[in-house]
Amino acid sequence: MSLELLTFENLSRVPGIVHAITTRSGGVSAERCESLNVSYSVGDPTENVDENLRRVSEAIGVRKVDLFAAYQVHGRAVTAVEADTEPRPRCDVLITRSPEKTLMLRFADCTPVLLADPRRRVVGVVHAGWRGSALRAAGAAVAALSDAFGSDAADLVAGIGPAIGPCCYTVGPEVVEVFADRPELIAAGKLDLWEANRQALREAGVRAEHIEVAGICTQCESDRFFSHRANGGQPAGRFAGLIRIA
Ligand SMILES: [Zn+2]
Repeated sequence: MSLELLTFENLSRVPGIVHAITTRSGGVSAERCESLNVSYSVGDPTENVDENLRRVSEAIGVRKVDLFAAYQVHGRAVTAVEADTEPRPRCDVLITRSPEKTLMLRFADCTPVLLADPRRRVVGVVHAGWRGSALRAAGAAVAALSDAFGSDAADLVAGIGPAIGPCCYTVGPEVVEVFADRPELIAAGKLDLWEANRQALREAGVRAEHIEVAGICTQCESDRFFSHRANGGQPAGRFAGLIRIA
């Protein structure tokens, strides 16, 4: 099957920015990692992940060595990536002004948020599961783009990608507890990660009309996107959210 990439309409209109959300199609991995798994830490042979990442890189016009990823820890720390930044910082938000690096984070139910500033020509990517969403990691990204690069939040264009949806994401009391300040995000015991991240962006000053929500549930569409919950306890493969300055 050919390599299928998901893109946002609003980010596609920003000149000089390349972005993509990968899907499960177009890779070489098998079974629960079928086929375009981008993670080395889910039991997929290294050579498969290498080849998958090579294909993803080629599809967005970069070299595999140009991909810059993080060791994701479900927090709100931000790394501003320069050409010489040490690889795999422990964080869940990457931002850059360097055309030499393609930012990449990995997902299987958690929320990908991609950000671009058309005026300052800088970009960012966020990984937000329930912890990161509760911590408003997307808001931390907006603040960091402003602090590091002088971005005005009102200029930012944002895409909220596939994540486990309010149709499927049943959460326990510990999660309900951390969203006590925003009870409207939980209905019938299910958390709305898409809306949590949209709100975090809005609170940080991003304009409503600049936010596009894919509205794709990874558990409902687990044949198209890797889903931790849909995998019934076995490690799921991961898909990638990528953005770069072209
Ligand atoms: Zn669903």
